[in-house]
Amino acid sequence: MNITISDVANLPSRFGNFNVKAFKEGEKEHLVIYAKNLENEPVVRVHSECLTGDALGSLKCDCRDQLEYALKLINEQEGMVIYLRQEGRNIGLLNKINAYALQDKGLNTIEANHQLGFAADERTYEVVTFILNYFKIKKIKLLTNNPDKINSIEGIEIIERLPIIMESNEFNADYLDVKRDEMGHLL
Ligand SMILES: [Zn+2]
Repeated sequence: MNITISDVANLPSRFGNFNVKAFKEGEKEHLVIYAKNLENEPVVRVHSECLTGDALGSLKCDCRDQLEYALKLINEQEGMVIYLRQEGRNIGLLNKINAYALQDKGLNTIEANHQLGFAADERTYEVVTFILNYFKIKKIKLLTNNPDKINSIEGIEIIERLPIIMESNEFNADYLDVKRDEMGHLL
């Protein structure tokens, strides 16, 4: 795995006073946000980029609520958010917007992806193991509802799974139902 790693920098934020370090994997530039004093068994959240949610506050998903919850928690409990640049469950922004257009016509999130020729979820997590090894982290408390994330982390002990369940709204309730019923998320 050919990965370029940045220096560490300070990032004071509204959620806490963090360190940040970028990991460049091919064209993708991921960001690790972590507490100044990382503890031995840190809380780790693996968050995949969602421009519409994270930056624009879209109500079609729960990404921004989850990201804010995770940043607050890693500040309180000295953990890490691994922010992966795999927009739209890794189909990219343009395809994601096309999928949203199909959802406007009544398809659900999985049907829309399939119509565009993609799997329901194209994300991968190999780089997560690389990053945790880089930080010499052997045991984590993983903040996730997604079994794919639990299963994809190799060689690192997950001593606890912490759920991350956000309140639904009228725009994302169906989406969260699909995540739970058809994608196996632990909601
Ligand atoms: Zn989202």
